[in-house]
Amino acid sequence: MSQRKKIIAANWKMYKDLAESNDFFTFFIENLQDTKAEILIAPSFTNLWHAFDATREYPIEIVAQNMHESEEGAFTGEVSAKMLKSIGIERVILGHSERREYFAETDRILSEKVRTALANEIKIIFCIGEKLEDRKDGDHFKLVESQLRNGLFHLNAKQWESVVIAYEPVWAIGTGETASPEQAQEMHQFIRKTIADKYSNEVSDNVSILYGGSVKPANAKDLFAQPDIDGALVGGASLEVESFIDIISAL
Ligand code: PGA
Repeated sequence: MSQRKKIIAANWKMYKDLAESNDFFTFFIENLQDTKAEILIAPSFTNLWHAFDATREYPIEIVAQNMHESEEGAFTGEVSAKMLKSIGIERVILGHSERREYFAETDRILSEKVRTALANEIKIIFCIGEKLEDRKDGDHFKLVESQLRNGLFHLNAKQWESVVIAYEPVWAIGTGETASPEQAQEMHQFIRKTIADKYSNEVSDNVSILYGGSVKPANAKDLFAQPDIDGALVGGASLEVESFIDIISAL
């Protein structure tokens, strides 16, 4: 039996100011039921400390949405692993398709970010996923495999204990269009097999693979019923606190 964790993670992107974030946590903490899911929430940098402080007594982990690959330096506007660590943050989302697309984060930069995060004992949620044209051309497996190989295959087996994968087909992010449970399961199984082929069954059985892309209360249960889907990375539906609670309850 694998030990892998069930995880529901919220990616707030560039939404919620401090007051909105505080309102969310007040309601969320009062209304959250017992769950077998680990709950992760990624607010903006400006809200990280407050969110961390507001949730420190609860089973909620606050994570960052990004970090720079260098330890420190003259990089105006950037945030380092050490800075995240210093306020208690122990996990970061890397490789989100919006970072790849709008901020030109390449596989090479991402592999450096991965290296820097783990060197600073920050765990990662590493996002991968194909665009619509890749899927139409039948290249989706090849593309996802190359993102895995280029971003993560420099790690040793032990380091995989600090990795969670989020499979997020770009065509399903923020579009209202979700991969079907079968499409998602097919890719999750492929990802797990690719990791097993490179490392071992033990490594791949223990890595949590989340699905992301228009997850909402209405589709969460069917996605979570798939054997290789270990939870979700939720964007839009995580901004609305009741929807997010409903998604957690679906696990
Ligand atoms: P979405 O975003 O749930 O709004 O599609 C998911 C994500 O970008 O992580």
